Amino acid sequence: MRRRSLFATAGLLVALATGSRTPSPAPVATGGYAAMAVPADSALDSALVHGSAARRFGGTVSGRLSVAGLPPVDGELELTPEALLFHPERSDEETVIYPVVRQRRLDDGSVVRRSTVRPLGPAAAERPVYLYHLDGSTFETDAPGLLAELAGDPTWIDSLAASVVPGHRALVDARDSAAQVATIDGLVHSAYADSLFQLFGRPTRPVGLVGSTGASARRLGEYIASRDSLSLAPGRMTSAGQLRHGFTHELAHRWQRSAPAALQALWRDVPPIRDSLRYGYDNAHEHQAEAIAFAVHYLQASAAPAHTPAGRASLLDSYERLVPGTRALARWLLTQPLYARHPLVRTPLAPVAVVAASPLHGTE
Ligand SMILES: [Zn+2]
Repeated sequence: MRRRSLFATAGLLVALATGSRTPSPAPVATGGYAAMAVPADSALDSALVHGSAARRFGGTVSGRLSVAGLPPVDGELELTPEALLFHPERSDEETVIYPVVRQRRLDDGSVVRRSTVRPLGPAAAERPVYLYHLDGSTFETDAPGLLAELAGDPTWIDSLAASVVPGHRALVDARDSAAQVATIDGLVHSAYADSLFQLFGRPTRPVGLVGSTGASARRLGEYIASRDSLSLAPGRMTSAGQLRHGFTHELAHRWQRSAPAALQALWRDVPPIRDSLRYGYDNAHEHQAEAIAFAVHYLQASAAPAHTPAGRASLLDSYERLVPGTRALARWLLTQPLYARHPLVRTPLAPVAVVAASPLHGTE
């Protein structure tokens, strides 16, 4: 597993992007979860840096990376002439590798090179925080260094040569239905799934594989409200984390259906997602499902005893920047029995006044 999705981001996301760029679905209770979109030119070759340009590289940039639309994780971005390598702080997570540049073929047939780093702009008023796209990922840092120069497509980008294309490996072979079903079964019978079923209820039908319609739309997961049926497509995913996230996102749709009043009350004053590449952009229904999945992930990540109170607060800020509403949903989740022993219970994040909570899955 460790190297399985080492090159996951660039390659597989290209495949996923087609589905992500289709017009946003109408806000009905049928989810069609996909990963983040990537720019159209990113399917072309990348290149190696050489010569004087290479000397600009070196060192690392500390920050948080959101891969394929997943919640952000802490780590170091190593800047080398050949690639940008993100090393997660947690040793059980994989290094993610990005090319430094990609080529784009223009309408007249000529080819230009562009940095894979694109600016998303300053993101926080109280202190400088900068967001960048790295292919289909989002990187946040307060000290961008060379990233700021790369994001401006400096002229030395044109001196690059020698193409290399990162490969990728899927979580499970998409041609092997039995292996995909086994992967889903492993998830559904895990303690993680038990926790989510406690929160959101259990779908009537067994969790299965995304059907042919969803597959042709390149969906990673679906929730079909009329049948109370949840399905996933592990053959198009690149990591166990992405599988868990898709599962949480689809179960969140189940909660949207069963407890709309509670969700509507929580959703007051939540601003829209700013990043047009992020799943849920310009679609409140999908945005809510992402915020719920982000909130579940945040409460899991922040439970680690190594976190300081300031670290937990900073981490939540990062989630909220990417998917607004995460904070409100996390606060609500903390009122649920499942989180009774979470270190953030009885902190300012979860004021006692909010605890007037009915069960999350309401009518179930
Ligand atoms: Zn959805």
